Amino acid sequence: MRREGTNPQSVEMSDVLCDFCHSSWTLDRPFIEGHQGACICGVCLTTAYRAICLAHCDDAISGVPTRCTMCLEDRSDACFRSPAFPESVICTRCIAMAAKALARDADSAWTVPTSEATTS
Ligand SMILES: [Zn+2]
Ligand SMILES: [Zn+2]
Repeated sequence: MRREGTNPQSVEMSDVLCDFCHSSWTLDRPFIEGHQGACICGVCLTTAYRAICLAHCDDAISGVPTRCTMCLEDRSDACFRSPAFPESVICTRCIAMAAKALARDADSAWTVPTSEATTS
């Protein structure tokens, strides 16, 4: 998401906020952009990946498709909901795509989590 009042002609890194924790984009915090400016940072992606892909949690309400903040589709796969901002949801497909993209990006220094532990 964009910080309120961001000049669309000159978007600064600090104007780009993670939809899941509302942190701004910094050099040591990799970001992945979804549709219409939706973003998830590496820290939230790690949390989401652990919850959905490793611990097999699902924050979706059963039987109701969940609108994913990142791809804007109504998804029926497992979804991660931001604990701080419950209106922000990311589907399994977007988590997998973002994880692949960040892991491939040498500058991000982000690695795919391999354990469910929340401390790293
Ligand atoms: Zn975040
Ligand atoms: Zn999605």
